[in-house]
Amino acid sequence: MPRMKLRRLLVGSLIAIILALTLGGQQVLAGEPSPAQNAIQYFQLQIFLPVVASQASFVPPIGDYGPLEGNDAFYYTVQPGDTLLSVALEFGRDLSLMPCATSPLRPEPITLQPGEVLRIPPAMALCHRAQAGEMVATVAARYHISSTAVLSEEWNGLTAVDQLLQPGRWVLIEEPSAGVTIASIAHRPTPTPTTVPWPYGSGHFVWPLKGTITQRWSLHHRAIDIAAPWGSPIVAADNGKVIRAGWNTQGYGWLVIIDHGNDYLTLYAHLSSIEVPLGAIVRRGQIIGLEGSTGNSTGPHLHFEIRDFGRLIDPLTLLPAKQ
Ligand SMILES: [Zn+2]
Repeated sequence: MPRMKLRRLLVGSLIAIILALTLGGQQVLAGEPSPAQNAIQYFQLQIFLPVVASQASFVPPIGDYGPLEGNDAFYYTVQPGDTLLSVALEFGRDLSLMPCATSPLRPEPITLQPGEVLRIPPAMALCHRAQAGEMVATVAARYHISSTAVLSEEWNGLTAVDQLLQPGRWVLIEEPSAGVTIASIAHRPTPTPTTVPWPYGSGHFVWPLKGTITQRWSLHHRAIDIAAPWGSPIVAADNGKVIRAGWNTQGYGWLVIIDHGNDYLTLYAHLSSIEVPLGAIVRRGQIIGLEGSTGNSTGPHLHFEIRDFGRLIDPLTLLPAKQ
């Protein structure tokens, strides 16, 4: 081969190889993206990301959202083993509201039947048990709402303002005035300790997690959210028995519930892991799980509820002022 031709061929081949590499020939040569391609993609992302970030200015605060807010009524079919309390716990409803998930004339005590369909009222609703001599108008006055509001609630099945209510029947107040609640119930006294393990709470709570409170108690969020680094240990707020340890489909994610045996229950949601079995007796301060962001959660935090005789109250009223 003449010398010039060989040189042209070599130069031509070199140009062809450079072109192949530059125009993405590496994909043909190798099946997986090369470091060079990754670098190009990274470079493209670096250009692209600031544009996207500036458009997406909304950053949700660490906390939770969704069904826990419970602004709408919905239907639920009772499963074997369900009780009014277990359903109330699972859906974040006050226990005192739950009779109004059944039927207006349902007598107490209410035992749920598997297959029975409940209409779970909105979380903010109230359920009133009629006393002898009460009328629609008296119940309406008691909750500072109009009689029309009581009558227009289809579930109540009531038609007249002066209609005398059957004692013991339930009246659903779907939109009560702010600040109106059902009267509180006295606590059972804590029995004297006799044996170990001791499943009864002292009534004095400790912080289940030390961190930043990112969401406080409100009628739309009957709990507090405490944010801390992912995986921080979460402890039982008082002595008690684990009555729930598992997955919740309503937005709580991995969930632990402790019954303190003194009319208080505490709930710990969005855990990344559960460290106690169902039925365990736990001591105050014992690790029960690790913090996470499972369920309807916007970042690692603990959603912590305290129930006082079934009612969701503000945990800050019972926790020590200092963490
Ligand atoms: Zn929360």
